Amino acid sequence: MDKLDVLIVGGGITGLASAWWLARSGMSVEVWEADKRTGGKIMSNRQDGYLTERAASMVLNFRPEVVEMVREAGLESAKTGRLPAAEARRYLLHQNCLRALPMRMGAMMTSPLWSMRGKLRLLAEPFIFSSGRADESVSEFITRRLGREVLEKAIEPFVAGTLAADPDQTCAAAALPRLTALERRYGSLAAGVLVNRVLRRRTACTTDTFSFHGGMGALVENLARTPGINVRTGYSVDELVRERDGWRVTATTPHGQQTLSARQVIVTTPASVAAALIDRVDNELAELLRGIGYAAVNVVHAGMARDAVGHPLDGTGFLAPRGASAVLTGNLWMSTLFPDRAPPGKVLLTSYLGGVRAPQVADWDDNRLVDETLRTLRPLVNLKADPEMVRIDRHLEALPVYHGAYQLRMQAIAARLRQIHGLHLEANYRGGVSVRDRLVRGHAVANAILAAHPSVERKSREGSGNSAEVVALQQATS
Ligand SMILES: Cc1cc2nc3c(=O)[nH]c(=O)nc-3n(C[C@H](O)[C@H](O)[C@H](O)COP(=O)(O)OP(=O)(O)OC[C@H]3O[C@@H](n4cnc5c(N)ncnc54)[C@H](O)[C@@H]3O)c2cc1C
Repeated sequence: MDKLDVLIVGGGITGLASAWWLARSGMSVEVWEADKRTGGKIMSNRQDGYLTERAASMVLNFRPEVVEMVREAGLESAKTGRLPAAEARRYLLHQNCLRALPMRMGAMMTSPLWSMRGKLRLLAEPFIFSSGRADESVSEFITRRLGREVLEKAIEPFVAGTLAADPDQTCAAAALPRLTALERRYGSLAAGVLVNRVLRRRTACTTDTFSFHGGMGALVENLARTPGINVRTGYSVDELVRERDGWRVTATTPHGQQTLSARQVIVTTPASVAAALIDRVDNELAELLRGIGYAAVNVVHAGMARDAVGHPLDGTGFLAPRGASAVLTGNLWMSTLFPDRAPPGKVLLTSYLGGVRAPQVADWDDNRLVDETLRTLRPLVNLKADPEMVRIDRHLEALPVYHGAYQLRMQAIAARLRQIHGLHLEANYRGGVSVRDRLVRGHAVANAILAAHPSVERKSREGSGNSAEVVALQQATS
């Protein structure tokens, strides 16, 4: 029997996206997933007519690879854009009430959110020199370029709310790659934005925020059904052994132990599982993986009658800076964002609690989580009644945090991988946690593998951008 080209360990969005790009190029590929369903963190649920998301609730895209994948996977008609009402505003919790965040420079200069001193500090940005340091934290980078107020009122809540991380410890280059690249290339963020605005007309893909009919679950279910991808659920991989021309992979399955040989293996599990699998192959690499920290997040969905909420809910929701909320990092107004999230006449509010700001939340029972959520929401959105639907989703290892010497750790991991032919590590602890980044990195790892198999028909490679990442991955995997 012919050896399998690629076996992918883990059927979350990273594993499925990698499989999709590989299968499209004619490679034989299997995905072994420990759970009885695919999707990993991503799962959409229907409860009492409400559609909730266990983890990712939307894709914020500006990459052409994602556009190509959605189109080629036949998902274009399943896409749902943001409803017009959600385009209007984003709110920030400030001095115990919700204030609209200014989205443009002009609005920022007149907003009561910023002090005169903070506004003047912003104007100084083009004249600030680069620090020349690659290891700056988000707090150091933003305070240096834009001042303390922007850090506290915009960036800290963003980092806590979307990455569950602490900006004082988070590596700026990893968490804000576009901003740090602007400084590197143009010497200033303002100059970079200006140049890009001029060039955008010809080059970049426009920014698009979307989900799918039926929620984000539709994306993973669609990818898992792709012809040419063999997905096996209930296959918990427990051993990787190097062979002369590939890898022998063993899993515990509902049918007993199963073993398969493949030329290449992509491990897409969380870092702790990857470390255990790789320990006997390369102990030093396993140690590097064990050093990656994760934050816990609990998600509380509350569904209620529209008239039980006094606030107009005219936006995406709000973020909460650390000084303003001890445990809640953000709240999304899902029924304003996308259609079909709540029955007619009802609304769905989704709250995120925990992260590194409040690790104690992981141990709270359901009652405490709901009480704390409603106590925070009640005065902010003028809640007049209790929700009719509540659902809680818990993630002990919600997101990897890009803390400390993150870049050095990633460089060391890439260096070790260069010594191990046919083994790839690709998950959200490398190259971004967002669904967009996962889809793009799946493309990059697939292209790196295809480059090592020149005989395979490479349908997808021409004209699909991302060359820097491909080169980096090729170097890391050759
Ligand atoms: C609360 C929350 C909200 C989020 N919101 C957004 C958002 O709105 N937009 C956005 O872009 N991103 C968002 N994200 C981030 C995004 O959802 C995740 O980063 C992404 O889904 C992770 O995908 P992954 O495939 O890398 O990992 P996972 O989803 O963790 O997949 C790993 C898979 O490996 C499997 N596995 C583990 N061990 C084994 C084994 N031994 N053998 C076989 N399989 C194994 C697991 O069962 C799992 O299916 C959010 C995340 C969270 C937690």
